[in-house]
Amino acid sequence: MKKNKQTGFATRAIHDGQEPDPLTGAVTVPIYPTSTYVQQGIGENKGYEYSRVSNPTRTRLEENLASLEGGMAAPVFASGMAAINAVACMLKSGDHVVCGNDLYGGTPRLFNQVLTCFGLEFSYVDTSEAENVERAIRRNTRMVYVETPTNPLMRLSDLAAISQICRRKKVQLVVDNTFMSPYFQQPLALGADMVVHSTTKFLNGHSDGLGGVVVCSTPKQAEKLAFLQKAAGAILSPFECWLVLRGVKTLAARMEIHDRNGRMVAGFLAEHKKVGKVFYPGLPDHPQHELAKRQMSGFGSMITFETGSLKNANKMLKKLRVCSLGESLGGVETLISHPATMTHAGLGEKGRKAIGITDGMVRISVGIEDIEDILDDLEVGLGAI
Ligand SMILES: *Cc1c(COP(=O)(O)O)cnc(C)c1O
Repeated sequence: MKKNKQTGFATRAIHDGQEPDPLTGAVTVPIYPTSTYVQQGIGENKGYEYSRVSNPTRTRLEENLASLEGGMAAPVFASGMAAINAVACMLKSGDHVVCGNDLYGGTPRLFNQVLTCFGLEFSYVDTSEAENVERAIRRNTRMVYVETPTNPLMRLSDLAAISQICRRKKVQLVVDNTFMSPYFQQPLALGADMVVHSTTKFLNGHSDGLGGVVVCSTPKQAEKLAFLQKAAGAILSPFECWLVLRGVKTLAARMEIHDRNGRMVAGFLAEHKKVGKVFYPGLPDHPQHELAKRQMSGFGSMITFETGSLKNANKMLKKLRVCSLGESLGGVETLISHPATMTHAGLGEKGRKAIGITDGMVRISVGIEDIEDILDDLEVGLGAI
């Protein structure tokens, strides 16, 4: 961002890291499907030695994403989970992490079922109250890990307030910014130390590849993460890098439509007789609507709503023709999921109840189809309840 601060987001999404190919002038970054690179002599090369360490297509994507999040480097990984795992690998045995209690389901699974075996410690608090974070910090706490808004309850955490606490306590703040994308939320500018994304979602945007990124703010982090790419090897392939580069060019345009459609769907659901509570930070009755307006430049397209029961949810979902039932989010197509049996099944009934996830809750990732078609589809679906 530093070098290109004068240009706007949409311009950077299309041009940063994507200079015409020096060999041919190709406007699109080529896919370099190569494992290795011929060297000119011992210790003489063109900056590339082996594709686990670096690959030109990957370099271009990493430059592009660093620019969009305002970071200094953005190493990419084979999936969002691989990126989160790399962040955790920056810690050492005995370190403690304070996490949000309403994270993407795969994150606590990695933390509790894999990383605790290596001596890392995790505790979970409601980070929507910044004081809870402060209270949970121990002598061995090295990192605070939050998602905002959360999945599926759309709770926000005040990043500026939490980052002040982290600074004072000398603890790193890591933010999973997958739901908002850098287009609507810039955690580094609010004081976070690192940002992670599942590029699988809005950054790629077309539901055709998995990927993850860690955007860092210091050379030390960048060096450590580059080392982890080389040492642990969970890198993103040149082809998948190219897909994200292609997707990201339309990020600004897509997010505008996602946001517009999201507001329309939230308004429609909030008025609908068959729908209970609607969770969307853009609704004036969302308890953190003011924070949403301050912290994000849009409200996005992730909405959760209450249908009353698992039976009602299923009746509705079976009728849908435009919206598809499926895990994942952030693609051009409208995707609906049922947290209790899909993304949050692993929490168990008690775990879900503790944070307020019910069997009747349905989460929608509003796509960029014609809004009339999405609303008609939901009307038919809700009519079945
Ligand atoms: C999907 C997702 C992840 C995991 O990413 P994968 O690419 O599926 O590994 C992490 N965090 C959030 C918020 C997600 O939505």
